[in-house]
Amino acid sequence: MHVEAREKLYEGKAKIVYETNQPGVIIQYFKDDATAFNALKKGTIVGKGVINNRMSAALFEVLQRARVPTHFLRTLSDREMLCHRLDIIKIETIVRNIVAGSLAKRTGLEEGTPIKQPIVELYYKSDALGDPMLNDDHVRMLRLATPGELAWMKRTALKINSILRPHLARRGLLLVDFKLEFGRRGRKLYLGDEISPDTCRLWDSRSKERLDKDRFRRDLGGVEEAYQEVFRRLVTEPHGPDSGHRRSNAGSRIPLQ
Ligand code: UDP
Repeated sequence: MHVEAREKLYEGKAKIVYETNQPGVIIQYFKDDATAFNALKKGTIVGKGVINNRMSAALFEVLQRARVPTHFLRTLSDREMLCHRLDIIKIETIVRNIVAGSLAKRTGLEEGTPIKQPIVELYYKSDALGDPMLNDDHVRMLRLATPGELAWMKRTALKINSILRPHLARRGLLLVDFKLEFGRRGRKLYLGDEISPDTCRLWDSRSKERLDKDRFRRDLGGVEEAYQEVFRRLVTEPHGPDSGHRRSNAGSRIPLQ
């Protein structure tokens, strides 16, 4: 059946979600708009929407092949994907392999410190409150998810990490940390939202160059180039552990830090 966009359901910082003529099916439209620090910093990253749409689709397919249920159905265009409509759980699930960002601030550990066993953190998805950190007891108190749902989310977040980390490593990318959102559809849970340089920290495996939204957050320059570089490595099939890396250095214009 031909899919058509209908009413706008929601407009966020980086995406617009539309209802469609098919019940239970939505379109995610990816914008070039970028925000950071709870929308205190605003800007545009030219071409970001196309890259985040294509990259999310590619990674959702990798996860689906490994039997992780995701909301992704298919790509419609450069900036649009067709997805199952989910009732999004108001928890941001973060997985960390290397100390960075807020974890460095909170612990005093240096950015780049490896974490032996990946860490899962929970944050309350609330712009009004500035996404505060939660533990399992807070989730229960706020009735954000049942204990069973929360256990599944944490287990699935770690499974996603164990799939994506080597997948990205083969392309010369270090998966430092990332944010996931899950939602309900009927009695089942699914991975929703997106997986992109907006929601992951990705560093070049060797030089540790930042190839993600930190370039925008921290005014490092070369933002568009970083997104393009990640995309290029993802769509290029790997030929060895460092193949992406070697090719990238040939034409990279991203300033080192
Ligand atoms: N993240 C995100 N959305 C948020 C907060 C964090 O996608 O609202 C991602 C961020 O890009 C990083 C990871 O989650 O990959 C961990 O972020 P952190 O807690 O270090 O916060 P930040 O330093 O970005 O404020």
